[in-house]
Amino acid sequence: MDRGSPEIREIPASADVVVIGGGSCGSVVAGRLSEDPDRRILLVESGPGHRIPAEFPPELVDAGVLPVGPDSRWIWPYPVELTRGRTGWIARGRVLGGSGAVNGGYFVRAQVDDFANWPASWSYEHVLPYFRTIESDADFDGPWHGTTGPIPVRREPADRWHPVSAAFADVAHAAGHPDDPDKNAPGSHGIGPVPLNIRDGVRVGPASAYLLPNLDRPNLTVRSDTTVTRVLFSGTRVVGLEVTTDGRVGTIRASTVVLTAGAVATPHLLMLSGIGDAEHLTTLGIPVVANLPAVGSEFSDHPEVVLPYRYRRPVSRTTRTPVLQVTLNTEDIEMRPYTAAFGDLIPGSGIGKPCLGVVLMKPRSRGEIRLVSADPGDAPTVSYRYLESERDREALQSGVAHAADLMHSGPMSRLLEPERIETSDDWLADHLGTSLHLSGSCRMGVDEESSVVDERCRVHGIDGLYVVDTSILPSVPSRGPHATAVMVAERAHTFM
Ligand SMILES: Cc1cc2nc3c(=O)[nH]c(=O)nc-3n(C[C@H](O)[C@H](O)[C@H](O)COP(=O)(O)OP(=O)(O)OC[C@H]3O[C@@H](n4cnc5c(N)ncnc54)[C@H](O)[C@@H]3O)c2cc1C
Repeated sequence: MDRGSPEIREIPASADVVVIGGGSCGSVVAGRLSEDPDRRILLVESGPGHRIPAEFPPELVDAGVLPVGPDSRWIWPYPVELTRGRTGWIARGRVLGGSGAVNGGYFVRAQVDDFANWPASWSYEHVLPYFRTIESDADFDGPWHGTTGPIPVRREPADRWHPVSAAFADVAHAAGHPDDPDKNAPGSHGIGPVPLNIRDGVRVGPASAYLLPNLDRPNLTVRSDTTVTRVLFSGTRVVGLEVTTDGRVGTIRASTVVLTAGAVATPHLLMLSGIGDAEHLTTLGIPVVANLPAVGSEFSDHPEVVLPYRYRRPVSRTTRTPVLQVTLNTEDIEMRPYTAAFGDLIPGSGIGKPCLGVVLMKPRSRGEIRLVSADPGDAPTVSYRYLESERDREALQSGVAHAADLMHSGPMSRLLEPERIETSDDWLADHLGTSLHLSGSCRMGVDEESSVVDERCRVHGIDGLYVVDTSILPSVPSRGPHATAVMVAERAHTFM
């Protein structure tokens, strides 16, 4: 590696603003900031890039496929411990578009009470205009919805539902759950179609909606296949970045840096750069720039227990059928009748059977991300600590028991035969996964003890450094985080 090279020729030596990570939030921030022709914006993405949506490889286009298997070239794989003694790995998107380019296309807003633990300037009334700005809802308008935003939102009509979506909706209604036609309305709960950022079977994530249409702006430069390895400071002021591309190391000068590397890579990069728990950094020989113990601490995510079954008769699924068409939302559980086995949805995953997901949407267990070394090439450890809260275990047990009842009733029991379902702690742990909604690893808040950024997304005690991605959500919302992350990015660009 040529560490002596001071500059990398193809990358601008400086920019007014550098955005680190061209994922869901980075695409929004770079797209919006570059609307001002007098600001030079550089977006640096570790994964491969595309100039136009037509260049997207088919697996990134087809919303019926999650291209995040072990051999995928579009992901960062991270080893994780889900709960004590149960290890595995998780994927995060590593491509222009980030996780939003490989995800399930479920685009549901956080609920009103999710904002209770956000700073007061992020109440539902404050964020509603931004939720409306980001979307073009094809099904609903009025005070809660936007109709002219970049992200198309629509729900699958019932006549296009997969047999398992239709059967599940029937049994949920029969069990007394209310109809929930608009899951993006305040107070939504019950059974209904999922708002999707999918148009004609094609995933339309923030890169397609905010970034790619604007690549011809002279003041916007996007550099893919380039990894930031450190943020550089003079004292506590940002002065630039260290990057690696094609095995070469160089620097970029910038006085404003927006970190949008996602909820695992952002705390990783902050710690490598000297921002984090001082004791932890010092142990690894990293000079401390700011002692912020909340970096990587107490993140939250949705634990998901999967209930496998077999179909009693052959069931076909057309290509580009969304992964999820309907969900049932109760007080703290979401049930997901996936339209295919994960083995089919995630090429190479080897997870064969179709399943119903039972997900805890307001988990109390909190996890931790820590460095193993000061080498940027070493993945951090990600410890979820799922099921450590007794209330989480009880809520999941009761959710699984209710799901079993639904699977054994009416049209569901005629369509499929569930495998044996139990609610013991061991059985839950054996069937445990994660929804990949990791949030809160660099929380927004008021003080330096318990949070990392202030309500304008500035890292406490540092000049020129913002964080704008799912890491700053104070906790994982009670719905998937994608719509909320895009809303945050849409608002946050106005702070810069
Ligand atoms: C498989 C999968 C399915 C999901 N399904 C859904 C769903 O259906 N609905 C939902 O609400 N949520 C879903 N999620 C979660 C949701 O997609 C994410 O929470 C959201 O996209 C995160 O956005 P982000 O901007 O925080 O990070 P990301 O979109 O992950 O973007 C981070 C970007 O930064 C880049 N990067 C990282 N480190 C560096 C570095 N050092 N230098 C340069 N670039 C770097 C990455 O390559 C990536 O492109 C899913 C997630 C996954 C992984």
